[in-house]
Amino acid sequence: MNKEDFKKFEKLERKNKGLINLNPIQAGGKLTKAAENALIEFGDGYSIYDISPGLELMEMPIIKEFIQDALPKFLGADIVRIILGVREGIFIVMHSITKPGDIILVDGNRHYTTIIAAERVGLKVVEVPNSGEPKYKIRVEDYEDLIKKHKPSLILLTYPDGNYGNLPDAKKLGEIAKKYKVPYLINGAYSVGRMPISMKEFGADFIIGSGQKSMASAGPIGVLGMDKKWEKVLLRKSKIYPQQELEFLGSELRGTALATLIASFPFILERIKNWNKQVENAQWFSREMEKLGLKQMGDKPHKHDLMFFKTEPFYKISLKHPKTRFFLHYELKKRGITGIKPGLTKHFKLSTFAASKEELEKVIDAFKEILKTA
Ligand SMILES: *Cc1c(COP(=O)(O)O)cnc(C)c1O
Repeated sequence: MNKEDFKKFEKLERKNKGLINLNPIQAGGKLTKAAENALIEFGDGYSIYDISPGLELMEMPIIKEFIQDALPKFLGADIVRIILGVREGIFIVMHSITKPGDIILVDGNRHYTTIIAAERVGLKVVEVPNSGEPKYKIRVEDYEDLIKKHKPSLILLTYPDGNYGNLPDAKKLGEIAKKYKVPYLINGAYSVGRMPISMKEFGADFIIGSGQKSMASAGPIGVLGMDKKWEKVLLRKSKIYPQQELEFLGSELRGTALATLIASFPFILERIKNWNKQVENAQWFSREMEKLGLKQMGDKPHKHDLMFFKTEPFYKISLKHPKTRFFLHYELKKRGITGIKPGLTKHFKLSTFAASKEELEKVIDAFKEILKTA
């Protein structure tokens, strides 16, 4: 291969910039202006050490304040550590507090990375089933019998789940966890940074959030909040380097992603105050979709921007359309809309989080038009 063959590597570009984006995984990770500046400022590898030259990251006043004061208050946790993302956080907790062969209990709507993390640790996973179509509800009361039966060393709740955007009764599960003295982890990939949430209020031992998913950050980065009773376990030190936290390989704090997470934090504090407005938009959107014969699954009225729709009418069109099942993707793109997985017509998920009310009206009009003319 000659040099010219690699020129394409210098020309990476995005195809969806400027469109109305309904992709749930992208809706909460858009950078603020401040974070964009931080991204450039700290783009050079390890340039973050220039914040307070000569100090380790954890000793730098601004980073110390962020991790030891701002984040714990924000999460309702005693201690917070920066992690690489939710999946790494889940792994860290499982790896620290369970042993291979243990049983853990998770909700049936869990993310696949929960299962992968458990597999890497060598755990047996028991799932609390959801109620099936149409609500796919997790009844947290169902954890109780399974706790009695399996004596799990950890219970996990996905709040909300990444398919239906359902918000189970996390507080009630906290009471159950206390009653049976079982450690309780909340996966807040779609809540931390979008909506107000407090680990303590839910009676949980751990809470995990994702920078790239919901905290207006570049990523890969996340936050892991814990109750102080886990300090000795989670933050256990290396025998060889007694200053270093073993589970975090010394420290997960590094570079660009951290700079964006910090720079976006004031904005995150403000945006969670507007959560009611987000829920209102989602509920309005759901009602309008249903008027078009598209059926929203999951909690109803819905309490989160992430929603799953069964969309039989689009499937019927796809059977006769020259662009087959990709027609919906093309038709939406023509109208400046992206984020629904190309090729899906029978059902899809979307998020209303990144769009304004006017943009959501545009989306509804687009669906209406496509149904009429395709
Ligand atoms: C996106 C997602 C994850 C993975 O998040 P990362 O921070 O990218 O590891 C985990 N759980 C749920 C519910 C998610 O939606």
